Amino acid sequence: MGWDGRGATGVDPLWAQLINSDWHDHLGTGRRLDRIDDDRWLEGFLHRAGWRRRRLPGAEARERLRALRDLLRRGVEALLAGAEPGDLDLAALNRNLGACPAVRHLERQADARLALVLAPVGTGIERVLGTVAASFADLLANGDPTRIKVCANPDCRWVILDESRNRSRRWCEEAVCGSLVKVRKHRSLKRSLGRPPAG
Ligand SMILES: [Zn+2]
Repeated sequence: MGWDGRGATGVDPLWAQLINSDWHDHLGTGRRLDRIDDDRWLEGFLHRAGWRRRRLPGAEARERLRALRDLLRRGVEALLAGAEPGDLDLAALNRNLGACPAVRHLERQADARLALVLAPVGTGIERVLGTVAASFADLLANGDPTRIKVCANPDCRWVILDESRNRSRRWCEEAVCGSLVKVRKHRSLKRSLGRPPAG
């Protein structure tokens, strides 16, 4: 189980992708899955986060991913409530950032200009933890946390970052939850119009 089209456009940052690995059925069946245990999902996610090993990580590394997911979830809940992540959570975020050292590195860009980049060292789970933590740290330090939203389908719970100019994004995916909620509204409207008058 797993592929339901959510996250298909791949626009959400790594921190949101990790939070959304705690999968809730957007159809409202109440089914819930942890996609960290879904090797196909995990492989794609790890690759996006800098994992360069052939074998997927074992139980201990997956536990560390789950711990980071809990930490990110708490941070997002604080931000959605108009607060800031607490000091203990910032310290935990810093530990994840520190798990993945980086070196300064000159890199030739496509336009032949040189760029000074901070390149992560390592290929394993530390690199993934550091890279995912950095995506959230970047939002806290340089981004706009007021753009964090939860998909407007209450069964979905997908966390999104609305980067549209007029802050109009409402859904994880328009084609998934947007259509579903519109069809449901339409049906309930038809039902209420078709109901015989009382008495
Ligand atoms: Zn949704």
